[in-house]
Amino acid sequence: MLDDLVPISAHHPLIIAGPCSAESEDQVLGCARQLAGGGVHIFRAGVWKPRTHPGGFEGMGATALPWMQQAKACSGMPVATEVATPEHVVAALDGGIDVLWLGARTTANPFAVQQVADSIAAHRRTDVAVLVKNPVAPDVELWLGALQRLHRAGVRRLAAVHRGFATTACGSIYRNDPQWQIPIELKRRCPALPVLVDPSHMAGRRHLVPELAQQALDMGFDGLMVECHPDPDRALSDAAQQITPHALLALLNRLTVRTATSSGEQQLALLRSLIDQCDDDLLQALSRRMQVVRQIGQLKREAAMPIVQTHRYDQVLLHRMARAEALGLPPEFVRQIFQLVHQEAVAQQLH
Ligand code: PEP
Ligand code: MN
Repeated sequence: MLDDLVPISAHHPLIIAGPCSAESEDQVLGCARQLAGGGVHIFRAGVWKPRTHPGGFEGMGATALPWMQQAKACSGMPVATEVATPEHVVAALDGGIDVLWLGARTTANPFAVQQVADSIAAHRRTDVAVLVKNPVAPDVELWLGALQRLHRAGVRRLAAVHRGFATTACGSIYRNDPQWQIPIELKRRCPALPVLVDPSHMAGRRHLVPELAQQALDMGFDGLMVECHPDPDRALSDAAQQITPHALLALLNRLTVRTATSSGEQQLALLRSLIDQCDDDLLQALSRRMQVVRQIGQLKREAAMPIVQTHRYDQVLLHRMARAEALGLPPEFVRQIFQLVHQEAVAQQLH
């Protein structure tokens, strides 16, 4: 599927960076100047911002388009911005934007995607590069559907951007859960489609960005879109996840790029990264479980109840073993794991 695409850039991995939002001429130009020549290939900034709640900073709109032109002139980088409506498309294309992207909230809405695709075609600009972020929910069909709508309209310079999925799981350390199996499935179905990763919206917090960026490259994704801002704490949107241009360039210098080309090695790297992700999920679940264990310990102490209650312990082991069987895991293996978990839980409640 989507096998007649034209590359959006010659760079591999492709690095796109810039602020979440274009806030002022100084901020846009300052950021672009600091990034120029440092391994960033496309400069990004949101001109129209889709905000969850009304009343927040919704972007500077068309006022910011000339700043993007200046950023392009002073840095030599092509410029990218988000579009969500036909009006945005026309203003962005007429305003010299080189790369358009559809945001997560837009990809989730086929009517909006169709309107954007139609307006690119009506403007006779199907030569423009378009990036499609994943929809908010982990639905590979909706993501693919958006790419197909643009493809049908005649756009061939397409790429996907994986920015993680909204999660209700409490205790997740990420703002948007990576769920790597979804972009991997997209890549499996469309081997010719470049899939980039946006570690910023995935992380939500800047200290998690480098690790996710490295994981993305380790898995063999085709590039990164990273948010950076000259003064991140004062950013008008997504302050917590933005890093300084200086930190971004340092991050890029530290990244290791895997160059192995044999598909066996790539496959192995991809699967190992999935294992790493599973282990991380296990550790996070264990940590959440022990937090609950300590709360129960407190309750038992206050109510003068004994810590070890063998009836409950028996029930837990039996239930977990039955569940293991249903999941295709050896019950004895799972019994041993839960014995260890119970042993540690008792130790935690004794403290
Ligand atoms: C953005 O890139 O600034 C943005 C709004 O991203 P997303 O659509 O992934 O939330
Ligand atoms: Mn953002």
